[in-house]
Amino acid sequence: MFGAIEAGGTKFVCAVGSSPDALKTVSIPTRTPAETLERVADFYKPHLGSLQGIGIGSFGPVDLDCKSSTYGYITSTPKPDWGHTALLASLREKLNDETLPLAFDTDVNAAALGEAMHGAAQGLDNFVYFTVGTGVGGGVIANSQFIHGGMHTELGHILLPKHPDDKYQGHCPYHADRCFEGLACGPAISERWACSSNDLPPDHPAWELQAWYMGAALCSVVCSFAPQRVIFGGGVMQMEGLLQKVRHAFAQHFQGYMQYAALNNLETFIVAPALENHSGIVGAWELIRRQVSNL
Ligand code: ZN
Repeated sequence: MFGAIEAGGTKFVCAVGSSPDALKTVSIPTRTPAETLERVADFYKPHLGSLQGIGIGSFGPVDLDCKSSTYGYITSTPKPDWGHTALLASLREKLNDETLPLAFDTDVNAAALGEAMHGAAQGLDNFVYFTVGTGVGGGVIANSQFIHGGMHTELGHILLPKHPDDKYQGHCPYHADRCFEGLACGPAISERWACSSNDLPPDHPAWELQAWYMGAALCSVVCSFAPQRVIFGGGVMQMEGLLQKVRHAFAQHFQGYMQYAALNNLETFIVAPALENHSGIVGAWELIRRQVSNL
C-alpha cells in the first residue's frame, strides 16, 4: 500500500491505496505549512503499519537535488508562509517516522508520470504535460526520464512575445507580462478582462488571445524538446473549445517549420489529460511505487 500527496497552493490532496484505481482520498485546504502538514500526517498515521512509502508531487519551485542541504524544500515560491519550507522533513517529523520511504518531485512531473503510466502518454518516451490554472507549469519526459538538470524545468516562466493588442500588465511577480504564466494563467485572464475566467463565454475574444499565447509557448517547447505529444490540463483548459483554438494558434505560429510524424495530426499531438484531474495524484502514487520497486 502506498500513499500519494498532490501538494497544491490551494489544497493538498492525500491518497492511500494498493492500486491507482482504488485510492482513498481526502482534500485538505492549504493553510500554513505547520497546520496543513499536521492534518496530512493525521490522515496517514492510521496506515503507517501497512504503508510502504508516500509519493509527493508538490507546487514549487522545489529542491530535488538529494545532495543539497535543502533537498525536499519548497524554495522561492511567492506563496505567503510557504517560501523555504522543509516539506519532506516537516512531514517526516509530524509522522514521527524516520524510515518511511518518501518520493518527491514537482506536481507537474508527477502528473506527467500519471499520464505516462495510465493516461494519454502511455507508450510515449518524449512528451510534455502542461497545467494551466492558478499558475502555469510544465513537466517534460525525455527519453522516458524526467528532466531534472540542475533543478526541475519551469516551463510556466518561458518568455513569450506579447500580442500587439494586449495592454494587460501581467501577473507574474518576477516577469510581469513577459512570461507564459504572467500572460496566460487563470488569474491573468480574469484580471485582463475584469471578469472571472469561468464566466467568459466560449466565443469571447479572451480565448483567442489565450490560445495565441499557448500556441506561442508550444512553439518554444516543440523546438526545445521535439515531444511526441503535449498534454494540457488544469482549470483553464475546462473551457469548451480552447484546445482546438490552441491547435490552430500553434499551427499559425509554427508555420510548419519542423516536420516529424507526431506533428502531422494536431488532434492527437495536442490533447487533454486522459486521467482528467487525477493525473497528479495517480502520478504521485507511481512516484513512490517506482522508487520502492527500483524502477
Ligand atoms: Zn514568470
